[in-house]
Amino acid sequence: MPVPCTFSCSRNAALKRPKTGAAICKECFFRAFEDEVHKTITDAKLFERGDFVAIAASGGKDSTVLASVLRTLNERHNYGLKLVLLSIDEGITGYRDDSLETVKRNRDQYGIPLKILSYEELYGWTMDSIVQQVGRKNNCTFCGVFRRQALDRGAGLLGVDKIATGHNADDMAETVVMNILRGDIARLQRCTAITTGSEGMISRVKPFKYAYEKEIVLYAYHKRLDYFSTECIYSPNAYRGHARAYIKDLERIRPSAIVAIIHAGEQLSAEENVKLPSQRLCSRCKYISSQELCKACVLLEGLNKGLPKLGIGKSSKAKRVLPSLLQASPMSNESLM
Ligand code: SF4
Repeated sequence: MPVPCTFSCSRNAALKRPKTGAAICKECFFRAFEDEVHKTITDAKLFERGDFVAIAASGGKDSTVLASVLRTLNERHNYGLKLVLLSIDEGITGYRDDSLETVKRNRDQYGIPLKILSYEELYGWTMDSIVQQVGRKNNCTFCGVFRRQALDRGAGLLGVDKIATGHNADDMAETVVMNILRGDIARLQRCTAITTGSEGMISRVKPFKYAYEKEIVLYAYHKRLDYFSTECIYSPNAYRGHARAYIKDLERIRPSAIVAIIHAGEQLSAEENVKLPSQRLCSRCKYISSQELCKACVLLEGLNKGLPKLGIGKSSKAKRVLPSLLQASPMSNESLM
């Protein structure tokens, strides 16, 4: 028997909201989802009128829904934002080349310009060539560090005010759990922030901080958005995979567990006498770092010198080895520009 929509709109429910369990029709679900993102944006004052905002676009569900919802909210609430899609091509054949085709279609569907920047042009390496050299164990360390900096570089080239990323509530809850298990108090302090990177760098904002992954998938599915859903061919990230499975198990028992973990992460703080690493600019590339040389420069130096393990694991190892390497042959600035 048909169940009426919770919002008393006279339509029948078409789905059950993962976040609340409410029976709801598609139209009311779209509106409720968009209104919640709007509330997140306005409560946290993520944007200012006239901001030029780069949407970090991978072609996956999160960034595709983000582009669609930001475009809708920008028009509906007259935010006055200028939007651009910014994609990073890691150089993963059979994965990123296909997903970038999706982003190109999104560019045309949403009428938002697109800028693509590749690891090859920034670092002289593709992920395919990095995996050939480092194997399948630490490849995501290279990829994650390079992508983070590549987004900053792309944003700098475009001259945007902010970068909006599609990180959702599940991602954030996973990161909280991972940082607790690692005892990484510095990252734990940063990972629940809705705005990061404002210390001298272009800020990153997370409009989906409270949006559940399952709701993003439902939104994309019922809106028939064009997104890419294949997993990366180099995806061995077992540690995050376990954290993800744990969060999904908790969600099955109690959906509010996801937001509860985020709130718990926000409440945890270091005692005053605990020294946290300060953020500064890398002495080589001038991008954000907690050490004299940023992780991207150390990893790149290791690749270029045939020492791919340099920068993996304890930073003291890099500190020991790098000065002699740099003296012997200074890092090429061209590869860092
Ligand atoms: Fe990069 Fe690893 Fe993600 Fe693949 S799974 S895109 S290699 S970080």
